[in-house]
Amino acid sequence: MTFPRAADVVIIGGGVNGASIAFNLAERRVRNIVLLEKETLAGGPTGRSSAILRQHYSNEVTARMAFNSLKEFQEFSHKVGGECGYVKTGFMIIVDARDADRLKQNVAMQQRIGIKTQLITANEVKQIDPYLCTEDFLYAAYEPEAGHADPVLTTSSYGEAAKRLGVQVFQKTFVRSVKANSSRVLGVETDKGTIETQTVIAAVGPWTPMLVAPLGISLPIHACRAQICIVERPAQMKEEVHPIYADFVSSIYLRPEEGRQTLVGSIDPKEAEDRAPNPDSYKEAVDTHFRDEMLEKLAKRVPILKNGLYKGGWVGLYDITPDWHPVIDQVGPEGLFIVAGFSGHGFKLAPATGDMVADLVTGGKSAVPDVKFFNYDRFAKKQYIRGQYEYSIAG
Ligand SMILES: Cc1cc2nc3c(=O)[nH]c(=O)nc-3n(C[C@H](O)[C@H](O)[C@H](O)COP(=O)(O)OP(=O)(O)OC[C@H]3O[C@@H](n4cnc5c(N)ncnc54)[C@H](O)[C@@H]3O)c2cc1C
Repeated sequence: MTFPRAADVVIIGGGVNGASIAFNLAERRVRNIVLLEKETLAGGPTGRSSAILRQHYSNEVTARMAFNSLKEFQEFSHKVGGECGYVKTGFMIIVDARDADRLKQNVAMQQRIGIKTQLITANEVKQIDPYLCTEDFLYAAYEPEAGHADPVLTTSSYGEAAKRLGVQVFQKTFVRSVKANSSRVLGVETDKGTIETQTVIAAVGPWTPMLVAPLGISLPIHACRAQICIVERPAQMKEEVHPIYADFVSSIYLRPEEGRQTLVGSIDPKEAEDRAPNPDSYKEAVDTHFRDEMLEKLAKRVPILKNGLYKGGWVGLYDITPDWHPVIDQVGPEGLFIVAGFSGHGFKLAPATGDMVADLVTGGKSAVPDVKFFNYDRFAKKQYIRGQYEYSIAG
């Protein structure tokens, strides 16, 4: 494929969001779209994602995005084409007495939107999952339709679907800079040549601040390490899957992995303090103290997993904003759109994000009208998006 000298739209970043945006724009019959990725599709944080698809948010906008997105994951082969690896497991969010009222309010709000979710007691949790210790909480919110997807497969499928609609995808192509004059975007300079364009969408996750800084844009996004541990379940646990849990009492989350394994990670907002100033070079091995903490908490919540076997883990990056919500906005010179800062919960939202961004760029009306919710100016005005919980990543 010849490298283009001009395009109508250039999308930088081939994570799940860049790929979803490319597909959604092409579906709206935008032509001459180019997607540029410095590694391979999903080669950054997306490829290390736990890819949990829950709809439990305490803000209506994000809850609606998660609701709309889950429908796309469930009907992926029909709506997009290809596979996303959706596995239905059910999802429970466990809170202690402090958050019980907020949990009830949030479940009521989500039910109004149409999300299949219900408040259940600890006893009912025990009936669904007898392995779980339910002694330290009273209620959980249960979403039977929730599950997880395969983040690499999802992104590749969006990329392939975009290509079928005419999008040119270039991997191993690094964007050195976005070119602009005092008022508008003019193009991008890459290691393969310059592309002239009037529309650039920067979906480069933790790399976004450094890409837009030369344009005078200060973006309050920092990268932090997000660690994952894998435990093989003991033979006494016969089930192939178990529900996914966001356990606010122990500040951990768990999801089943293939091969009777369980993935465990942290939902402690302190994780944001483990900064990775250079997203291209950070410690990729799991810290020993993190592993020990996760195994201990896991064994308390699921006592039978005391006999599980630690199988290693990996470390990805979150792109954190001050309020743990992304920027989805036109920022700086006309024609520059920033889609970044998903703060560790952006995978599940990618179908809705692609839809919103395609509408933002083309002036259409997306299924989620309030893209302004994610405006850039909120940081300067200190009008942060506030969740109902203390657990920032929960949204
Ligand atoms: C360990 C972990 C667990 C997670 N678990 C969940 C979960 O359970 N559920 C959930 O919803 N979310 C989860 N997330 C968050 C979610 O995965 C991310 O929010 C989402 O994948 C971000 O996608 P993105 O496309 O915005 O960015 P990224 O995945 O960061 O992609 C950006 C891409 O841009 C490329 N790039 C950067 N600079 C340039 C350049 N100059 N030129 C060309 N290309 C460039 C990078 O190589 C990268 O591929 C998790 C994340 C991690 C790390």
